[in-house]
Amino acid sequence: MNFSKTTLFISRLNHDPSIPWEGPTKRDEFLIQEVVAGLQTFLSSVKKFADESSTKIQTIEVTVRKNFLYRADELIRESEREKVEKEIILKEKELEKEKKRDERKRKREEEEKKKQEREDLQAEKKAKKVKELEEKEKKKEENSCKGDCGRVCRNGGSWMGCEFCDVFWVCPVCYRSPIMKQTMAKHEKRCQKL
Ligand SMILES: [Zn+2]
Ligand SMILES: [Zn+2]
Repeated sequence: MNFSKTTLFISRLNHDPSIPWEGPTKRDEFLIQEVVAGLQTFLSSVKKFADESSTKIQTIEVTVRKNFLYRADELIRESEREKVEKEIILKEKELEKEKKRDERKRKREEEEKKKQEREDLQAEKKAKKVKELEEKEKKKEENSCKGDCGRVCRNGGSWMGCEFCDVFWVCPVCYRSPIMKQTMAKHEKRCQKL
């Protein structure tokens, strides 16, 4: 049978010196088993105590007054209360930040909208002006003497105009020319058919 060094040592130590030693006896083995079991029980109880002690220690953070006595459970409650309070303040700050962010976004969008409206209005005004200029140009073209003298008919007067439309005018000077009279007659003939 194989015995551990410790078993052999204890057996020799425990042996009656008047009798020759021949290895561990049944009694030695029983003794060693008891010692081992006792040690195990002791170690597990030490471990249990250590575990319990560690759970009983709680690190807390709390505001206290100097020269004041506090009870541990009061301090724990106070620290819990402070923790909740801090969380509430933090949450409120976050909400405030979010609100400001939304406000900034809303303002930016509003400004962009206004800018767009201004640009649209300017574009509209520009288009209107262009149209007016074109109309003016067209009117001028229509009221210009067809004799190519460069005069523009403003109020009729002694100008000769087509009887059928309002866009063919010849000034009195150009109308003296027989060619111009012919041109007018041709135009009226054509204009009448339209
Ligand atoms: Zn005409
Ligand atoms: Zn003319």
